[in-house]
Amino acid sequence: MKTGTIFNIQKFSIHDGPGIRTTIFFKGCPLRCKWCANPESQAMDQQILWDHKKCIRCLQCIQICPQHALSLVKDQIHIDETKCIHCQACVQNCLQSALSCEGEKQEIDKIVEIALQDKDFYEESSGGITISGGEGMAQPEFLKDLVKELKKHDLHVAIETTGYVEPSLFQELAPLFDLLLFDVKHYDSHKHYQGTGVHNEKIIQNLSWALQNNLDVLPRIPVIPRFNASLQDAQGLAELLVKVKAKKVQLLPFHQFGQRKYEMMHRNYEYENEKAMQKEDLTEYQNEFIKKGLDCFF
Ligand code: SF4
Ligand code: SF4
Repeated sequence: MKTGTIFNIQKFSIHDGPGIRTTIFFKGCPLRCKWCANPESQAMDQQILWDHKKCIRCLQCIQICPQHALSLVKDQIHIDETKCIHCQACVQNCLQSALSCEGEKQEIDKIVEIALQDKDFYEESSGGITISGGEGMAQPEFLKDLVKELKKHDLHVAIETTGYVEPSLFQELAPLFDLLLFDVKHYDSHKHYQGTGVHNEKIIQNLSWALQNNLDVLPRIPVIPRFNASLQDAQGLAELLVKVKAKKVQLLPFHQFGQRKYEMMHRNYEYENEKAMQKEDLTEYQNEFIKKGLDCFF
C-alpha cells in the first residue's frame, strides 16, 4: 500500500468546497507564495518546528538527539535539517511540547478510514472530501490511488490546486475529481513570479484545458494587498477569466493565518501586521468581474 506525506486531516471543514467536508492536507508545494497561510506545507519532507514561547531551555532535546542535529545558538534551538532523520525523539521528550513534527507518512487505508467516519455528515450536507496542501498533485501516484479508494465509497472528492503541474500530468489527474477549486493569482506572468516564485503560463494552460473539457472548475482568487488587490488587477484577472471561458469566480479576501508558523520556522513573513480584508473592502473589485459577465461571489 502506497504512503504519502500528509501534514493535517481536518474534519468538519466548511470553507473547502460544498457542505461538510474532511480536508486532507498534502505536504509539498512548487510555489512559494509570500502570503502562504501554511508555510509548513511547502517543503516536501517532514520538518521539526520549535516554539520559542513554550521552550524553557532545559536542553533535554539536545542531549537526546541521536544525530546531534540540535544546538543552542543565541538562546534559540537550532535544527540542522541536513542531520535530522525525523525520528521524533526530541518531540516526544520535550515536556513543554515546544517541538513538533510537521508531516507524517500515512497509508491510504488509514486516511480512508478517517474519511469514512463522517460519511453521514457528507450525505446530509452534500459534502465530501477535499484534497488541499501544499499541492496534492505534487504526490501524483499517491493522490491517484487515494482518490480511487475514496471513490469506491461514492464520496464527492474535490481538490484545491495551484494548477502548477505539467499539463500531461494535470490532464491525467484533474478528471479524477468532482470539483477543482483552482487558484488564479495573477494575470501578469512577471508579477505572478514576484509573488509566488513561478510564472503563470502553465497554470493558465491547465485552467483553460479544464474549462474546455467541461470539468467542474471554480476559479478562486486570493485577493492579496500589494500583489493583486488593485482595480487594474481585477480588470486584468477578469479579462483572463473571460478569455479562458470561465463563468464564475470566487474571491478570497486576505486573512492573516500563518504568522505564528513563520516564527516557528525562523522565516521572515512579509505580511506581518497586514490588516485582514473584508468583503466590504472589495465591492468595486468584485464589480470589475460582474461587469465582464462573470458570476463573482465570496
Ligand atoms: S526539550 Fe523542549 S523545552 Fe527543553 S530545550 Fe528542548 S525544546 Fe526547549
Ligand atoms: S527528530 Fe530525531 S534526529 Fe531530528 S532533531 Fe529530533 S531527535 Fe534529532
